[in-house]
Amino acid sequence: MLDDMLDYIERIRERPVWQPIPDSVRDQFRAALPSEPTELAQVHDEFMRLILPYATGNTHPGFMGWVHGGGNPAGMLAEMLAAGLNANLGGRDHMPLEVERQILHWAREIFGFPENATGLFVTGTSMANLLGVLVARTAALGLGVRYRGVVSAPKPLVAYTSAAAHGCIAQAMEISGMGAASLRAIRTNDRHELDLDAFARTIAEDRRAGLRPFLLAIAFDFHKWGQVPYDAGFILVRNGAWHQLTFASAAAYLRRETRGLAAGSPWPCDFGPDLSRGFRALKTWFTIKVHGARQIGAVISQTCALAQYLKARIEATPSLELLAPVALNIVCFRYRSDESDRVNAAIVADLQESGIAAPSVTTINGRLAIRAAIVNHRTEERDIDALIEAVIRLGDARCQPDAA
Ligand SMILES: *Cc1c(COP(=O)(O)O)cnc(C)c1O
Repeated sequence: MLDDMLDYIERIRERPVWQPIPDSVRDQFRAALPSEPTELAQVHDEFMRLILPYATGNTHPGFMGWVHGGGNPAGMLAEMLAAGLNANLGGRDHMPLEVERQILHWAREIFGFPENATGLFVTGTSMANLLGVLVARTAALGLGVRYRGVVSAPKPLVAYTSAAAHGCIAQAMEISGMGAASLRAIRTNDRHELDLDAFARTIAEDRRAGLRPFLLAIAFDFHKWGQVPYDAGFILVRNGAWHQLTFASAAAYLRRETRGLAAGSPWPCDFGPDLSRGFRALKTWFTIKVHGARQIGAVISQTCALAQYLKARIEATPSLELLAPVALNIVCFRYRSDESDRVNAAIVADLQESGIAAPSVTTINGRLAIRAAIVNHRTEERDIDALIEAVIRLGDARCQPDAA
């Protein structure tokens, strides 16, 4: 299995980025519950034939859809070690918890947060934002909100985020009972950044109207630009006291001691809703140790430089049009056509099915755009060239079939 996965990563370029799943393959996963054992080697063989070839493709350097991380071999091997230990990181006194605390210290250092900042691994940024909304609610309304609920708020609470923010923030407002209507979408400037003047004005207006501002969303994770294999989201809370007050509860079976296995309080289960939790910290620790912060930072810079290269190639190609400024690692563009939305959506589907590259689509100012998010440390200029050449060829084939 190790050889297969190392070969897979080493030869990833020889594979299509993604390929459609044949019905015959999908059908094999509608089988009845196996009551009898199957040889491990046979199950592994099914994995190699039926699962591995039909993955999303985000380890491939040509994958540029949505925002997916590329993973890395050190993180992959750490996952095997973590599964071997089968550690449960809900609490108690064992070394895996110190590994998670080590990552918290590093996260504080990365973001310049104070000593009393607390943190926790969660599935992803969506979950981190949900916990963030709950912590901000406790900080605004006090511990009593856990018993009385948000209906007890003396003034309605109001939260803020960019109009271009991820949908998980509105969802966090829904799930937390705050309600999505209490989230203000602050407009963005022509660089698609939060408009700080509009933001300040909106807060002032809300205060005058008797509302209580309580949250401005931030988000981060290790599993995208940090190159740690999925999943490795993280919440970092500046004032750890509110974090602990939001989640810690007393339960007889979770009694704390000063010695023995029940020592080491507070435990991660005091900082989030999960009790049983896996060892996400280990793959993150391996990735950061093996590569070092400087190398991970260099990957982030390199993906931004590749985005500038893609921008330059688009601007040098008359049949293509850039649709948004390129500030970081994301490039939105389109193939020029009279039926632009239809043609570009078709080009993206063609591209994904070709296996050459996998961008996604988005809408910019009402126009459908091809969106390339360059996140993977394996992506190089030749992958950008392959994307550009394929977009032109597929666009020409659709719009100028005679010339092509
Ligand atoms: C990816 C992303 C999310 C959602 O995070 P998940 O880890 O996929 O749950 C939220 N906000 C931003 C800015 C993101 O890039």
